[in-house]
Amino acid sequence: MKKSQRVEIKKILLAQIALSGDGLRLGRLNASLGRIDADNFGECFKCEQDIPFAVLKTCPERIICDKCLDKAED
Ligand SMILES: [Zn+2]
Repeated sequence: MKKSQRVEIKKILLAQIALSGDGLRLGRLNASLGRIDADNFGECFKCEQDIPFAVLKTCPERIICDKCLDKAED
């Protein structure tokens, strides 16, 4: 992920943390914020492919890609 994209995702995370109440999503958002500077941030936890930037923009707490999410729901 490009540095500029990382900066953008970080802003989105901070904004969403401010807006979200307590709960599961807040925990996930905070976890993503803690990993934002990691080399593998934005990669799928399962298959290690990059999660599309557009997906991360709407869902910055995502840690798995659409493909693996589909499989998980089978
Ligand atoms: Zn995946």
